[in-house]
Amino acid sequence: MKLILLGAPGAGKGTVAKLLTEVDGSVQISTGDILRGAVQAGTELGKQADAFMKAGDLVPDDLIMGIMEARLQEPDCENGFLLDGFPRTIPQAEALKGLLDKIGVKLDMAVNLDVPRDVILDRLTTRRTCSNSDCQAIYNVKSNPPKQEGICDKCGSPVIQRDDETEEAISKRLETYNEKTAPLVSFYEKEGLLTKVNATSSDVVVKSISEKIGI
Ligand code: AMP
Repeated sequence: MKLILLGAPGAGKGTVAKLLTEVDGSVQISTGDILRGAVQAGTELGKQADAFMKAGDLVPDDLIMGIMEARLQEPDCENGFLLDGFPRTIPQAEALKGLLDKIGVKLDMAVNLDVPRDVILDRLTTRRTCSNSDCQAIYNVKSNPPKQEGICDKCGSPVIQRDDETEEAISKRLETYNEKTAPLVSFYEKEGLLTKVNATSSDVVVKSISEKIGI
C-alpha cells in the first residue's frame, strides 16, 4: 500500500505505521525517525535540523524534500510505503505530488488520524521512545510500558523521553501543527485521496485501513 498518514503529533501515526508494515510488507518512512537518527549520528543534516526540532519547529522544506526525493526512489519502496510525518506543509505536499508524478507512483490514500486534544496531550507527555536510532520503538508509561523499566523490549537500549516532549516543546509542536500541517486535510480532500478515521485505538485504525484498501 502507498499511504500518507496525517494527524497531530501523538495521534498515533508511528504506531499505526509500524503495525501496517506487518500487514503487507510496506516500509514505514518517518521523517522524524530519519532526522533523529541524523542528529544522533552528528551528520550535516542532523546539525542543521537539531535546533528546529528541539524548539518544536519544522525543519525547512528543502532539507526534507532532499531526504524524501532520495528515500522514495530506493528499491524497498516499490512494494509500498507508509509516510509518517511527511508531508507536513502545503509546499511539501505540492513537491511530493510533483515527485510522485515524475517517478510514476500513485498514492492509494491519505488517512487522517483524528484524536481528541486531551488524549493527544496525555499521550505525548507519557510517551517514551527507544534511544537506539535504528529501533525507535514507541512505549507509553501508562498503557504500554517496556517489560523492564527504561529498557527497550526489542533491542535492550535505554528508553527515553524525547527532547521535544517537554511541555513547552509539545505546545509549540501542536501550534505548528494547527498552523502548517492541518491545512493538508483539505489539500488531500481536494485531491480525492482523503479518508478520516477515529484513531483512539491503533488496532481499530489498522483494521479499518486494511479493509478500505482491500487487504
Ligand atoms: P515527529 O517524530 O514526526 O514528531 O517529528 C519530530 C520533529 O522532526 C518535528 O517536530 C520537526 O521538527 C521534524 N520533522 C519531522 N518531519 C518533518 C517534516 N516533514 N517537515 C519538517 N519538519 C519535520
